[in-house]
Amino acid sequence: MPINCPACGKKNETADACSRCSSDLTRLRAVRLAAAAHLAKAYARLTERTWAAALSHAGRSWELLHTPQSARLACLAAAALGDAGGVKQWRRREAG
Ligand SMILES: [Zn+2]
Repeated sequence: MPINCPACGKKNETADACSRCSSDLTRLRAVRLAAAAHLAKAYARLTERTWAAALSHAGRSWELLHTPQSARLACLAAAALGDAGGVKQWRRREAG
């Protein structure tokens, strides 16, 4: 998963340090991995129809990394829970 260096903006594919300015990218990569792991758990909970757990994991993923996928998944879980306010909030986030 490519990461844009927060210091210089260079796109880095897999290295732990920026190829241009040598900034440490390991923590950024760890955050992205954790966000992806929570997103995967949210998908799994959705398929099990455990909506509250799905919403929790999708929300945690969103906290770590704002992606349309995490917002969309949270929106689905909120809808399944009958939470109209939550649906509205997550749709707004999904739209960016
Ligand atoms: Zn850099």
